[in-house]
Amino acid sequence: MNQELNKIIVIGGGAAGMMAAITAARKGNQVVLLEKNEKLGKKLYITGKGRCNLTNACDMDELFRNVVTNPKFMYGSFYSYNNFDTMDFFEEIGLKTKIERGNRVFPESDKSSDVLGVLLKELKRQNVDIRYESEVTEILIKDNSFYGIKLNGNNEIITGVKVIIATGGLSYPSTGSNGDGFRFAKSMGHSVTKLFPSLVPMNVEELNLVKELQGLSLKNIHIGITSKNKEIYSDFGELLFTHFGVSGPVILSASSYCIPYMDNKDLILLIDLKPALSKEQLDARILRDFDEFSNKQYKNALDQLLPRKLIQVIIALSNIDPEKKVNLITREERSRLVDLLKGFKFHITRLRDYNEAVITKGGIQVKEINPSTMESKLVSNVFFAGEVLDVDALTGGFNLQIAWSTAYAAGNAV
Ligand SMILES: Cc1cc2nc3c(=O)[nH]c(=O)nc-3n(C[C@H](O)[C@H](O)[C@H](O)COP(=O)(O)OP(=O)(O)OC[C@H]3O[C@@H](n4cnc5c(N)ncnc54)[C@H](O)[C@@H]3O)c2cc1C
Repeated sequence: MNQELNKIIVIGGGAAGMMAAITAARKGNQVVLLEKNEKLGKKLYITGKGRCNLTNACDMDELFRNVVTNPKFMYGSFYSYNNFDTMDFFEEIGLKTKIERGNRVFPESDKSSDVLGVLLKELKRQNVDIRYESEVTEILIKDNSFYGIKLNGNNEIITGVKVIIATGGLSYPSTGSNGDGFRFAKSMGHSVTKLFPSLVPMNVEELNLVKELQGLSLKNIHIGITSKNKEIYSDFGELLFTHFGVSGPVILSASSYCIPYMDNKDLILLIDLKPALSKEQLDARILRDFDEFSNKQYKNALDQLLPRKLIQVIIALSNIDPEKKVNLITREERSRLVDLLKGFKFHITRLRDYNEAVITKGGIQVKEINPSTMESKLVSNVFFAGEVLDVDALTGGFNLQIAWSTAYAAGNAV
């Protein structure tokens, strides 16, 4: 049995675990960081399509607006460690960053490996004892207070004064996050809210249509999602058709709001392909095109209006004879076309699973956690940070900011 006393133990070497370990070590603590994988930050490495959108350079209001679940819980930790503190931190440890469209912050090199590289260097500089292939299987509690953890099921015990649990959620389980933290929390009497894959693509009923459109990305479209004829989400953005349905930034964000309605089985996605034009303006625009191509057949007259892949699909759905000369198309037929372009309709059947979800919605009930320190209100000397908590946000660097801020709060408090 390996006894190590007076140590801060951090479980999970993801974004939150690394930040918590660095922060705790900078305060003069002895820190051991336990990661079950053979390397740190497997998920961080794949973030932002390998570029790592590490935070968002927006103002405080915007930061809170992008937190979908439990924004109030984030008050303490965002105010003591915000997105600009994150940027300063990374600059200070040697990472140059840049700000892109939508205030998204990336490493100047466009390489998530550089984010990992500077974190690893800083962990070493702070003498954090990093143990790879060290899977924690049990948290040991005595007299309602933490005293140690059990490793790898081989009865090796590491004792310590405090523990920070930063084991992540359930999404992309191949990166190591398989829900251990939820199990640990429950074993200590914490409640875990219902868990769902979120920021995730969607399946639609109209499989034949999406298969034809597969690979097509539509920028600057507007989507509306309704349930029982009530709009539950609406936004502008980029959408991608896949072989099973729809994906892309605007769909991932929408998924976060669809979760409570999935049981209703009546979710409808309406895509406005021409959001900058009113129906009247769009009709006038189509008329101009039809004037220009007056001797062409309908099937050859939409080239200026739509991307090539969409043309065949829209022609088929508009119920207008493709061979018809455009100067013979009636006002009603044009009106049908306008309605279709302003309301391209799909029935959402389900959300994809954890293997494709950017985050897990749900987690450890935040009422049971001190929002300034991330300490458990139920068991002494146990802290939580990152995705294991019931807090989640939209895409744009906000989920990593939640990880950095909660980890800083925990690392600072231990
Ligand atoms: C494809 C993808 C792209 C993303 N892109 C972005 C982005 O660009 N910007 C953004 O803000 N967010 C992004 N996210 C979300 C972001 O990655 C997460 O919110 C963030 O990684 C959560 O950090 P975490 O440290 O809480 O958990 P994780 O990063 O999941 O880390 C948890 C760690 O704990 C370890 N662990 C688990 N159980 C144990 C155990 N029992 N013992 C020891 N170790 C254990 C795991 O192996 C893992 O290394 C993306 C997510 C995905 C899946």
